[in-house]
Order: sequence, then C-alpha cells, then structure tokens
Amino acid sequence: MKRYYLLFVISFLSFLSSAQAPSKYYLTADRVFDGEVMHEGWAVIVEGDKIVAAGPKDKIKEPTGAIKINFPNSTITPGLIEGHSHLFLYPYNITDWDTQVLKETDSYRTARATVHAKNTLMAGFTTARDLGTEGAGYSDVALKRAINEGIIPGPRLMVAGRAIVSTGSYGPKGYDHDQEIMLGAEPADGNDLVRVVRDQIGKGADFIKIYADYRWGINGEDQPSFTLDELKLINEVTRSSGRVMVCHAKSKEAIKRAVLAGAETIEHGDFIDVEIGKLMKEHNVTYYPTVSAVDVISQYRGWKKGVSAEPANVTNKKKSFKEALASGVTIGMGGDVGVYPHGENVLEMELMVEYGMKTMDVLKAATSVNARTFHLENQVGFVKEGLKADLVIVTGDPSKNISDLRKVKFVMKDGVVYRNEK
Ligand SMILES: [Zn+2]
Repeated sequence: MKRYYLLFVISFLSFLSSAQAPSKYYLTADRVFDGEVMHEGWAVIVEGDKIVAAGPKDKIKEPTGAIKINFPNSTITPGLIEGHSHLFLYPYNITDWDTQVLKETDSYRTARATVHAKNTLMAGFTTARDLGTEGAGYSDVALKRAINEGIIPGPRLMVAGRAIVSTGSYGPKGYDHDQEIMLGAEPADGNDLVRVVRDQIGKGADFIKIYADYRWGINGEDQPSFTLDELKLINEVTRSSGRVMVCHAKSKEAIKRAVLAGAETIEHGDFIDVEIGKLMKEHNVTYYPTVSAVDVISQYRGWKKGVSAEPANVTNKKKSFKEALASGVTIGMGGDVGVYPHGENVLEMELMVEYGMKTMDVLKAATSVNARTFHLENQVGFVKEGLKADLVIVTGDPSKNISDLRKVKFVMKDGVVYRNEK
C-alpha cells in the first residue's frame, strides 16, 4: 500500500515539474543542416515544443537546467518530410497489391499501419504526406488522429483518404464482371466529381488526390483518365475549400492537363521531358518522381540489380529524371514508400543521388522544399527559431554521403524525444 502511495507521489511530482517547467534541450553537433545550408559549430535550443534558438555556439548561451544532447561525428537536420507514402500498404513481394486491397480488412490494415507509422518516425521522418489508403477508406484520417492525440507514435500526417479515379481505369482488374469488385480508390466522373470531392473533404481528406492517368490504354499503356474540364472542375471545388489537388500522372498528356487544371504536385511523371518540366515550373508545380517505386517493383519482378540487364522502365525513369533536372522544375522527395518497407524512406533519396541529383539538393528536397510545397514552411522543414522542435541527429555527414541518414541516433518531434541512442 505504502509503495503505491510513494509511486503516486513521485508520478504526481514529475507531472507537476513537467507541467511547470517545459523540457529544455541544448543540442550540439559537428554540423547543423538548417534546411538549406550546412553549418559548423552551431547549437540548437529547444524549449517545450519549439526551437527557441539556432546559430553559432558562441552566440547562443546554454540555458541553465537544459538537457544536453551531443553525439560524436554527428549532423543535426530538420525532421525529414516524406512526400509520398502509403502507410496502409506494405511491400508487394510479401503480399501483392490486389490481395491487400481485396482480402485484408480495414482493421487489419490499420493495425499494420500503426507499426508503419512508428517505423517512419523512428527513421527520422517526422512529417508525411500520405497519398491514399488504397481500399482502406478513411482509416488514414483515424490514424492521423491517434498520432495527434499521442495514442501512438508516428509522423505528423497530411492524408488523402480514398483518392479519386475515373470509372473503368483503376484496379484491382481482371475479375469476372459478374462480381462487383471494390477498387483501390473511389470512382467518379463528370458532374458527380463535385459531390465526391466534397464528400471526401467532409470525411477528412486534407487534399484531393486524383489519378489523372492510368495504365488502361489499348496495350496497357498510361493514358489520361479525366478530361481537362473534369480536372478543372475537381480543382475548382477542391480549391474553394482551401485545399489543393494533387495528381498521379505519368504520361505527358495527363501531366499537361493536370498542370493546366491547377494541380499543385505531380506524382511519378515517368514520361516527363524538358518541355513538360518547364511547363510545370511555369505553373509553380512540384514534381515527385518516386524513382524507388519503379526500381523496387522491377526487382520484385525478377530484375537482379547490378547483375542482369536494366529493365526498360528503369532506363526510362533515369532518362526522364535527368530531363526533369534539366528543366529546372522543383523536385520534392517522395518515394511511394509502402511499395518498399516503411522506415526505409531514405532509399528514395539514395536513388535520387544515384540518378544524378546533387546530394545537397536531395537533402533540401526532403526538408525545405517539401515544407514549402506543403505550405508548412512556418512550422517544419528548417532548423530555425520559432519552428516546431522536429530534429534528427545522424552519425556522419549526409551532405557528403546521403546514406548517413540511415545512421539515426536521435529523433525529436514537437519537442518530444522518440529515439535517443546513447
Ligand atoms: Zn502512390
């Protein structure tokens, strides 16, 4: 009995102290990447859930009573931002997409998604834009709520909900037409798009995700699924709610229609070229190349990377990525993670470097560029006074070797420490 009383007093006292004096941290490292520039000899001070100071050590006074954080040969970065995830999917070489969509219940998939969310956060990704549950309804809205309420650990989420496809275009496909097969997204066309966009918004979508094309051409090639007018209608209804439209688009024609209709980001863009990249740049559209999805799916289909001949779709992806770089379009970081394991998000960044992007630009893509694209630059994506205390510490220097981002030692989100490997 006495012991319980003592425990109660201790926990009450610690509650009082945490309520009265928010945790203060004094973080130092060999390098601090502030979202745009790498600095040496910097310190960062966190108080409560905010960064209250960041700059040269000699200009920043160590606060009394602060918890000191320092790792040898380390770099502090802003919490990383995953730009294209599917927390309700897991690698197709374990369970193919059709089976996940058709045979797994939403509750089973949500149980898995809680683990995926945790793995994402522990890998240093403190924010993620999730691009559709692929058949798990609005479970992403509930997942986001549980994370925000502190029930489960996970990244700060922006979610799409079900996403929208045109009738006839999307999968699962190839089943007897006598059966009504549930799809990986919600079909809608013509004027009905107005109702469906509003319905998705009402159910918690933070943005509207559209499949502007899909592989439903006569030979299975990517062909536009919506007309320009349909896309304009979707965009108008979405924008009037203060949200944005983002588009899956691989073919040049679908990218063009999506951009002209007002899309804010283009996902995949496998057949992008300099001309289309320039059009996107003119319209201030950010490109999410998802290079790892193509690479990994090719490997699931039997490609032995580095041993067997490179498949045509990988060669094409490398070529189009180079053209996008040459066009000057803004490139964000989002890998379609879920196709490969959650927590392996850095793979996309490694491949972006492998495909020809400067390492420093890839670091920016996953921090400041993504933050600006998602209109979060006043909250995350930078190590800067006044922003949320989302900080990651890794061993090494990721501006020299991007894979150093895998050597995570410390993860803080909103001033709360989730990982600290002393
Ligand atoms: Zn995707």
